[in-house]
Amino acid sequence: MFGRGPRRGDNSKYYEVLGVSKSASEDELKKAYRKAAMKNHPDKGGDPEKFKELSQAYEVLSDPEKREVYDQYGEDALKEGMGGGAGAHSPFDIFESFFGGSFGGGHHFGGPFGGGSSTRSRKRQGEDVIHTLRVSLEDLYNGTTKKLSLSRNKLCHKCKGKGSKSGATGRCNGCRGTGMKVSTRQIAPGMIQQMQHVCPDCRGSGEAISERDKCTQCKGNKVTQEKKVLEVHVEKGMQNGQKIVFTGEADEAPDTIAGDIVFVIQQREHPKFKRKFDDLYMEHTLSLTEALCGFQFVLTHLDGRQLLIKSGPGEVIKPDQSKAINDEGMPHHQRPFMRGRLYINFDVEFPEPGALSPEACCILETILPPKPSQSALPINLDECEETTLQDVNIEEEMRRKEQQRQQEAYDSDDDSSSDVHRVACNQQ
Ligand SMILES: [Zn+2]
Ligand SMILES: [Zn+2]
Repeated sequence: MFGRGPRRGDNSKYYEVLGVSKSASEDELKKAYRKAAMKNHPDKGGDPEKFKELSQAYEVLSDPEKREVYDQYGEDALKEGMGGGAGAHSPFDIFESFFGGSFGGGHHFGGPFGGGSSTRSRKRQGEDVIHTLRVSLEDLYNGTTKKLSLSRNKLCHKCKGKGSKSGATGRCNGCRGTGMKVSTRQIAPGMIQQMQHVCPDCRGSGEAISERDKCTQCKGNKVTQEKKVLEVHVEKGMQNGQKIVFTGEADEAPDTIAGDIVFVIQQREHPKFKRKFDDLYMEHTLSLTEALCGFQFVLTHLDGRQLLIKSGPGEVIKPDQSKAINDEGMPHHQRPFMRGRLYINFDVEFPEPGALSPEACCILETILPPKPSQSALPINLDECEETTLQDVNIEEEMRRKEQQRQQEAYDSDDDSSSDVHRVACNQQ
């Protein structure tokens, strides 16, 4: 941020914009700006560009330090020194710091330059506050109301967010209400450096309330802390990740549209049911006897109802087979009388090795479908080689084999692999 040395730029434009002479006093400048700014304010149908020019001119000329720089080096020196333009502040901020308010009551943040409409609200948008709301699957099935205690900033009711007893806010002396301070110093003959920083007196607000005039309720802070209990209605059938919004319930601040408090539903894992959209999924293990000869069991549903689930006569359930019960899934959100399906996936537990005696096997063979008869086998068994089946844990085996393979690949790693790496880098 260095000036470019002694170079005379245009240093009369700002005086012309305000219609004053170069020797105009602070008072004359003020009067000229007031008159022109009122006339050209966009809220009164004035030209926004003209209004911006006026504010820029006044911002510079009303500050003795900036005026001096401008008189000596012109507009460009200010631009360079202040990082992107002499008009570092919104023209509306300047207007307000001058008149202490705007026409419409609302403050002007992010003014309508670049073709915006002047009827648009210029209040700042406050930030949303997002909370996670942990709920059970039962809560989502039945619906529930959660009471949550939150504390938030409310505009002080005593001073209505002004911060002062009188309702007036003075201008900060440290920065003349701009919220920013510019310091100038000469770093070499003809070279000046300008630094802009937030005013430490008012922390950038541009306002000051005298100790005497501070509101006793909020001590000049404009807001007070409020504890509030929110009733969050979790409706039947709401989904994981769904948002429940309390519009405008986040922190209040002067000239700010309060943001929303948003609760994001997070469903706790359920020990029995998994949910996908409006359907529920569960696992059930049958003994081999149940799978072959029929079963029945009682399932306690999410609303406490007892469902009797049973197979029909002669029905055989195979391992990993699924069945569904209509209308016993989750209620559909906002149409809770409509429900999804409940899917049951069956696992079949077979008897442990050695659980069946040879005699029991003989009895079973008389009942179960017959084995393939030996005479049906295509070749003479006496000519075959005998084998033995070993017990294995197939997943364990696979993992071990994979590790072995990686170790071998690592051991055979040599210089050729770094060549490959170099080629890959060069291609980028
Ligand atoms: Zn107050
Ligand atoms: Zn200040």
